[in-house]
Amino acid sequence: MIHVSALRKVYGTGVVALDGVDLDVREGEIFGVLGQSGAGKSTLLRCVNLLERPTSGTVTVGGQDLTVLGDAELRAARQRIGMIHQHFALLASRTVAANVAFPLEVAKTPRAERRTRVAELLDLVGLSDKAGAYPAQLSGGQKQRVGIARALAARPKVLLSDEATSALDPGTTQSILALLRRLNTELGLTILLITHEMQVIKSVCDSAATMRDGKVLESGLVHDLIARP
Ligand code: ADP
Ligand code: ADP
Repeated sequence: MIHVSALRKVYGTGVVALDGVDLDVREGEIFGVLGQSGAGKSTLLRCVNLLERPTSGTVTVGGQDLTVLGDAELRAARQRIGMIHQHFALLASRTVAANVAFPLEVAKTPRAERRTRVAELLDLVGLSDKAGAYPAQLSGGQKQRVGIARALAARPKVLLSDEATSALDPGTTQSILALLRRLNTELGLTILLITHEMQVIKSVCDSAATMRDGKVLESGLVHDLIARP
């Protein structure tokens, strides 16, 4: 579903953030990338939805090479890739429902359809009773549920998760990971997540890769990686 090949990213500062990364994420799996701060994980994630232009290499999502697309085509392709963030990135002045509706407004979805879809999404993440609340009135776990609902608004096949549980306590982390697993199973959603916590990999990922200094050190099924000495 996601195929990354010989990916390099050199920032304007001369920092080599990605130094020849190869990665294969199969359809319907949860794939985790583990590494310390500075390893290149978030650069990798931003290259997968082309928020960041790679210096060289290719990124294919759902059979489409994103690195050759122009800006307009890229915007369309990006709608099929959802993303969630460590600090949720919600709009403070908008209600929960309006945050979730935001990508639908950008996509010019008709108002009635928007309303139905938002109600469906809030139900999916268990927040139907919070439609009219503002982000400041929510717990961290609830904010991340809003982030997840918003990321799924356009029915993407792929969800990218940028340290989505790093700001949450252990109990809340487990409930968000359980939600991701349920969405993976129920919607057939392919998930690529980055984390600095081995526990996240162990609890929810099917496959994983470890990164250091812009390189993948090892990758494979979590079951096999854990069994290694
Ligand atoms: P991680 O997500 O694993 O912490 P990053 O991808 O954020 O790693 O960073 C990898 C390297 O690239 C680090 O050395 C970081 O300082 C550098 N880096 C990240 N973003 C930028 C940027 N926008 N400009 C310049 N250097 C960056
Ligand atoms: P609008 O005037 O566009 O309805 P709102 O700020 O009230 O502006 O709502 C923004 C978005 O949130 C709209 O797309 C609306 O459909 C959606 N929305 C608001 N409240 C609800 C709700 N209770 N259930 C579902 N969707 C809602």
